[in-house]
Amino acid sequence: MTGISRTAQTMPYTVSKLTDFSSTALDAAVRELRSALDRESKDIRSETDWKVFRDRWMARKNGILTQINDSWLKASPKDSRREVGQRVNWIRAQVEDRVQKVESLLLELATGKPLGDFVDVTLPGIRRAIGAEHPVIKTMNDMIGVFRNLGYSVGEGPEIETDFYNFEALNFPPNHPARDTQDTLFIAGQDAKPLRDRLLLRTHTSPVQIRTMQKMKPPVRVVCPGKVHRNDALDATHSPIFHQIEGLAVDTNITFCDLKGTLDHAMKAMFGSSVKTRFYPSFFPFTEPSADVQISCIFCDGKGVRDGAPCRNCKASGWIELLGCGMVDPNVYGFVDYDASRVSGFAFGMGVERIAILKYGVDDIQLFFSGDVRFLEQFS
Ligand SMILES: [Zn+2]
Repeated sequence: MTGISRTAQTMPYTVSKLTDFSSTALDAAVRELRSALDRESKDIRSETDWKVFRDRWMARKNGILTQINDSWLKASPKDSRREVGQRVNWIRAQVEDRVQKVESLLLELATGKPLGDFVDVTLPGIRRAIGAEHPVIKTMNDMIGVFRNLGYSVGEGPEIETDFYNFEALNFPPNHPARDTQDTLFIAGQDAKPLRDRLLLRTHTSPVQIRTMQKMKPPVRVVCPGKVHRNDALDATHSPIFHQIEGLAVDTNITFCDLKGTLDHAMKAMFGSSVKTRFYPSFFPFTEPSADVQISCIFCDGKGVRDGAPCRNCKASGWIELLGCGMVDPNVYGFVDYDASRVSGFAFGMGVERIAILKYGVDDIQLFFSGDVRFLEQFS
């Protein structure tokens, strides 16, 4: 008997004709078919094997599914047809599923991808590093937050500007040195155009102030953050790309006191409430009067001396120069159809990298743009 049963196992499966349609007999027949399906699907090694397997089980003409449909379902007596039908449907689903699974396994083997069916769910997952804001962006957002709290909106504009927006409307005279290629990066091939239409990489975000004033009437309160470009050689404190935040407030009766109060508040919000500010006369074409703003040195608390030695950060002066500002030159209002006799306002601008360098103690501006993860990780 044992010899016969071993032979039966190695013989290819054939669909037996059923004469007994009792539940027990049906279950036995289904078990036999199911183990044949397992056995045969395990032996598949190639696409050719798989095609033979698929056709043997699913071929419309004489496939095993067709055979059980004919010799089990159609041959069954009426009162057991429902039970036979349920089993035949279950087998059909099993066969279709197996044929599809074997095919995708073969495909995964061929493409070298891991076998989806054998993922070990107990293995620890892949830990992905969580990103963080770039220190320049973080500093910019912090500064924007300070002015948002004062009721300023945020304006943005193109990085490629015309001479008109970058210089002319900001009251730069035609021969101003900033209009020289030594300081400004111009787009090539513009010589045929009139000067005011020539394209350049904006050297400050001030053009956004002009664009904002063209779009809306006073009162205006806006900060303009963004990337700017100058024809500077790389060194520890200069980069041809850097970021600026400029601000503009235009309304009736705005005075220099408003400017001083606003910037003093902003510097305290950024660097701490003990920071002092002072204003030095300066010159910008688009403001009159103009001032440079210095803050008391945050490294030596304005003493000029740190650890018994002259403070290097403020060159022992106790002050650090941080930004430029002034009352908007009435000539600028002429370019945007504001009535200079009725409105007044102030503008200011600061370098974002400069602030980040001070805030985080960075000694080389190039670190911000090198993409070195070891540097950036310190801010996560
Ligand atoms: Zn100092």
